[in-house]
Amino acid sequence: MLKTIMPIRRLSEITINRIAAGEVIERPAAAVKELVENALDAGARHIEVILVGGGIERIEVIDDGCGIAADELPLAIERHATSKLQDEALVRISTLGFRGEALPSIGAAAKLTLISRPQQQDSAWRIDVAGGTITPARPVAGIQGTRAIVEDLFYATPARRKFLRTPRVEADAAEKTVWHLALASPATAFRLVSDERVLFDLPAQDINARVAALFGREAAAVMLPFEAQRDDLKLSGLIGPASLNRSTSRLQSFVVNGRPVQDSLLRLSLRLAYRDVIPSGRFPVAALWLELPDDAVDVNVHPAKSELRFADQNGLRSLVIGAINRSLAQPINLHNAPVATLPSLALRPPSGRNLYAFPSQPNVRAHEFAEAELGFSAPPAARPLTIAPEPQPAPEHPLGAPLAQILDTYILAQAPDGSLVIVDQHAAHERLTEEKLRNQFQAGHIITQPLLVPLVVDFPLQEAARLLDAAESLARLGLEIEAFGPGAILVRAVPAALKNPDAAALLRDLAEELAETSTPLALEAKLDATLARLACHGSIRAGRRLQTEEINALLREMEATPRSATCSHGRPTFLKLTRTDLEKLFGRRA
Ligand code: ADP
Ligand code: MG
Repeated sequence: MLKTIMPIRRLSEITINRIAAGEVIERPAAAVKELVENALDAGARHIEVILVGGGIERIEVIDDGCGIAADELPLAIERHATSKLQDEALVRISTLGFRGEALPSIGAAAKLTLISRPQQQDSAWRIDVAGGTITPARPVAGIQGTRAIVEDLFYATPARRKFLRTPRVEADAAEKTVWHLALASPATAFRLVSDERVLFDLPAQDINARVAALFGREAAAVMLPFEAQRDDLKLSGLIGPASLNRSTSRLQSFVVNGRPVQDSLLRLSLRLAYRDVIPSGRFPVAALWLELPDDAVDVNVHPAKSELRFADQNGLRSLVIGAINRSLAQPINLHNAPVATLPSLALRPPSGRNLYAFPSQPNVRAHEFAEAELGFSAPPAARPLTIAPEPQPAPEHPLGAPLAQILDTYILAQAPDGSLVIVDQHAAHERLTEEKLRNQFQAGHIITQPLLVPLVVDFPLQEAARLLDAAESLARLGLEIEAFGPGAILVRAVPAALKNPDAAALLRDLAEELAETSTPLALEAKLDATLARLACHGSIRAGRRLQTEEINALLREMEATPRSATCSHGRPTFLKLTRTDLEKLFGRRA
């Protein structure tokens, strides 16, 4: 049957603005972002954001910037009208805004009031637009700068209103937005009030003080400053040591040419840079600033301007990874060092409660481990050596008998020939799990373990969709998932070899990887990498205390598993210090 043909007609201005509002203003936090960006573009020194009911009821942004002249107020709320775009080729964009669609979009979805007074104007003027209907501008009392008030967000677009979360969740999201903006503009004072609670009250300050205020003093105290440059990409920032890892990426910020962004390339590069030093599922703490020529980055990819496209993606990725790896303190270098380089380590006498000597690296701060009291998540605490009863290593067990576990991360054992064996428990176990998975995969199928209580994990819609597209590939790898309402994914079964994985963290990682690889098939093509990722999530964490029997079982399994001497990144899973090595280290031998 033929469809009834409707005549083609132009959409009304109001409809167009509502459609744009759907993209630009998807929740109160997005409106906050647009209004604060306008204030920053106006050169404000002070910005105050006041939220009521998570911003759904009311958002007010007050600035002391340049203001809008009375005769330009109607233009400010008109679509595609902007004072910021000098370059119509869209190549050099140096302001935060440029699309001229935020205010009309807000005005189409909510009730918007602008009260503004430029310095040279003797009174303020006010204009209102509600659901797209404009009340002409008129003079009112007001001081220099601009006050933007948004009430009843989405009252004119009920379809969108349905998707709003609770005021508490929306307030959180808005707070996060202001947090990122404040970090990107330390020279501007920021105040954020939510339901009469003051969340931030930040004076104009330098970058370090702003980071301390927003990341917390304890975190800032151990974060390491760094700088790096490659061609005309300039990267600088403050990064947390591996021990400062967190359970979410909340304490990560990326600022590109003064614009806070949520860019996936930068996020992934950061994750890769820390991949080998923090357990998977944990997130590093970092504030990164990237400066590059305006024409080396396209900010016009997404209406909210938070995703970017970089001209030189590979250059950027290796700059980030290289710079972070260089400056990242590696508190225990044995972790990386092959046995042969051991004698070159400069050992210091033990300090504090820490039984370990630290290699003399300029960036290493011994107190990172000695002061676990900082209250951040589980840096592996030093614990006194437990001297096991006289071990009797059997000759058929080259990795020897367990002596102790230190830092809840490394296993000490004594080999039959008396050598000291040091095992990285996470790396070793990860390798064993990976081999198991690979053998099962090659034998036809990966043995799954249904979850007793199926797990539901929430994702942004597009990530959920990506994971579901890959469901078939994932099932072949032993991970069974299905859709469970918008954005939610139900995990039914995981590979049995993983024992008790954090399935939510595993899925989040896979979702990120899928975002990078684009096709679900690529996951299988990258079988090694994917198995390694699965194995990592199912492995004993660094920082977990093990029982003697567990240690013993691990050593015996390592002996029985080919290729268990290195982890999948090619690093050793264990080190052996022979009598000769020890004698050299103590200077008994040249
Ligand atoms: P854009 O920021 O992309 O130009 P907007 O719709 O956000 O588009 O704003 C339209 C115009 O209104 C801006 O270009 C600017 O001239 C003016 N404007 C908006 N907010 C402010 C403000 N807080 N202070 C000064 N001018 C503003
Ligand atoms: Mg704007």
